[in-house]
Amino acid sequence: MIPQPRRAAFLDRDGVINHDLSYVGRAEDFVLIDGVAEALRRLRDAGYVLVVVTNQSGISRGYYSKVDYERVTERMTELLAAHGVAFAAIIHCPHAPADRCACRKPQPGMLLDGAAITGVSLRDSVLFGDKPSDIAAGRAAGVGRCFLVGPGEPALVGAEGGGADLLACVRSLLADPGETMV
Ligand SMILES: [Mg+2]
Ligand SMILES: [Zn+2]
Repeated sequence: MIPQPRRAAFLDRDGVINHDLSYVGRAEDFVLIDGVAEALRRLRDAGYVLVVVTNQSGISRGYYSKVDYERVTERMTELLAAHGVAFAAIIHCPHAPADRCACRKPQPGMLLDGAAITGVSLRDSVLFGDKPSDIAAGRAAGVGRCFLVGPGEPALVGAEGGGADLLACVRSLLADPGETMV
């Protein structure tokens, strides 16, 4: 048997995993979107390692601290661990746009780091995000399939499976694994 390449599901956080309240800097404001735990379990069972890639410019803007961010991360980890879901990596960009860093999406830095940490093939990986900048980062990194999640404009940037929540996008991915795009 030919071994399957390792692959990841890269997940934006706010608006994909939890409700996006513009800036989520307090653990009590972190609320899972319905169906997310099941979606993540399905991805895991299909052989995807789970990697969170999240822009957190609220840190640079002074809306909340790195410690606050870490508390929110802990809350996310605990809530999902209760459903048997664990992340292989949780990567954040603390910078503001003016910092011109290489990690803030639409830059691909966090995806490249995530692939290096987990040893996955980007081409065999998938990405789920709720903003065009998520999709742009996925494309720039060479992620095989990128899904625009949530109530955003489904026609935007021609992403696959737009306009539906994470669970619906995961269902459509797993029902039709498809060919990875070049
Ligand atoms: Mg988002
Ligand atoms: Zn950054």
